[in-house]
Amino acid sequence: MTDVVDIAIIGGGPAGMTAALYGARARANTVVFELGLPGGQIIKTELVENYPAFPDGVPGADLGEYMHQQAERFGAEFRDFSPVEAIRRVGDDFVLVADDTETVARTVILTTGAVPRKLGIPGENEFTGRGVSWCATCDGPLFRGKDVAVVGGGDAAAQEAEFLTKFASYVYLIHRRDELRATECLQEKCVMNPLIEYRLSRVPSEIVGKEGKVHGIRLTSTKGEPEVLLEVGGVFIFVGVDPTSELVRGLAELNAAGFVKVDGEGRTSVPGLYAAGDVTDHALKQVVTAVGQGAAAAFDALRYIEARVPAG
Ligand code: NAP
Repeated sequence: MTDVVDIAIIGGGPAGMTAALYGARARANTVVFELGLPGGQIIKTELVENYPAFPDGVPGADLGEYMHQQAERFGAEFRDFSPVEAIRRVGDDFVLVADDTETVARTVILTTGAVPRKLGIPGENEFTGRGVSWCATCDGPLFRGKDVAVVGGGDAAAQEAEFLTKFASYVYLIHRRDELRATECLQEKCVMNPLIEYRLSRVPSEIVGKEGKVHGIRLTSTKGEPEVLLEVGGVFIFVGVDPTSELVRGLAELNAAGFVKVDGEGRTSVPGLYAAGDVTDHALKQVVTAVGQGAAAAFDALRYIEARVPAG
């Protein structure tokens, strides 16, 4: 028998869990399809300092778990390890294929987020898991007493460079321009940290290994300086994110970078299909904006469902 749900949410990060909370509290039949376990990118963040109501910050894993418990308490159903493989528009509804099962959804909220970008240089793939990492929280403790490089100039690079000084003996922050784009307060923490040294106007060209592990990173200069080999035991890459929007490519309108175009209520170009969080073209990508967008999308989805029911 085919399942019929009011709101199908694809992705169990902060945007998805908040949409689930709002859908379930309004007594809509709300299901969250999740690739793995609920939580999203924040569970990889040691401490979230810019989410209101936590004056001392909150561990990302705890925040993710609170959101999950809250949505479940109101009746949202989480289908873990159920990646949605395809979405089809059938009449005014959507058909989702996951685990070889079809689910009919009256509305869909896409909250699939974004994945960390790669540098695309020699050595990056070869030494992934052997010194190259995209997650300081997961891998930082493995670099105790070693020098490491962090690549990038945004919030993620600055925040994670600071975090890595808990373990690494020295952190080189490598950025391709001569100034970071990270938020001032994150930059200040890096500047004041004696264990962080900037390598600005430098572009990584190769990750070099020795005996199967990272041994260094080769850097070219944008200012005509000679190429250097910086000897480090680890390379952490934080050069932005790419949207996970393949599921709706060809269905909804995307921007040039592949982010889903949405209005203020999270409506995409397809009626009944919403998007929220990092997968959207909203500029500010924070937990606090993701949860707001998740709430707005669920609220509008509920109104959309109500408007479809013929008045009795
Ligand atoms: P981001 O803000 O897009 O920054 C990416 C950085 O990587 C930029 O400095 C960029 O350089 C550099 N870069 C891009 N491609 C590169 C390449 N091929 N080689 C070398 N450098 C490259 O990405 P993000 O830091 O991952 O953050 C993503 C989003 O999450 C942002 O909206 C951010 O605010 C948010 N975030 C927030 C927090 C927080 O509030 N604590 C923490 C983490 C992330 P250019 O500057 O030259 O473009």
